[in-house]
Amino acid sequence: MSGFDGDDGFSGFLGELLDNGHIDGDAAGITRQVIDKGEDSLSDKQKFVFKRDVLSLVPGECVRGCDIPWSEKYEAMDNGGFCSWCAKMKESADKDD
Ligand SMILES: [Zn+2]
Repeated sequence: MSGFDGDDGFSGFLGELLDNGHIDGDAAGITRQVIDKGEDSLSDKQKFVFKRDVLSLVPGECVRGCDIPWSEKYEAMDNGGFCSWCAKMKESADKDD
């Protein structure tokens, strides 16, 4: 859960959370600021809220133990915590049974 360096899909992911109403109140404004200026622009108090209200929603790694790229995390929240690769594997395994 570290390594924010430029845009590796992180801000896009945050945008999806905002657009779909997962974040509201103070956290929404803080999230917009992270999208605009990066996490480093937050005060300590904002960072606390961002971690508590936003990052706590985010699956850190896939259920099967691999890292989930930011660009796939939103989908992972929806499909039970799988990266797209494992979701695909699971789907074909389900079909085989
Ligand atoms: Zn996976």
